[in-house]
Amino acid sequence: MNRAPIHRVLAALEHAGCSPHSAGSGWRARCPAHADKTPSLSIGIGRDGRTLIRCWAGCEVQAILEVLDLKWPDLFLRPVRRGRGA
Ligand SMILES: [Zn+2]
Repeated sequence: MNRAPIHRVLAALEHAGCSPHSAGSGWRARCPAHADKTPSLSIGIGRDGRTLIRCWAGCEVQAILEVLDLKWPDLFLRPVRRGRGA
């Protein structure tokens, strides 16, 4: 059961072809929100279990989430309400 938010995010990055891989205490991936040739995206887990995303090129987290088709609640440890249909 991979219900932790980090797994949602990593799965979405994988799906987007961003090649997430572990690095140090977190993960690195190519940023889906800009033309990234090197992995500029740093992904980690915060103390409260939330997923931390940071693009070192300066993309806003909101923009990254939109490309990945994720929402803010997807980053947090709490039940995610599935959208109406789709
Ligand atoms: Zn970026």
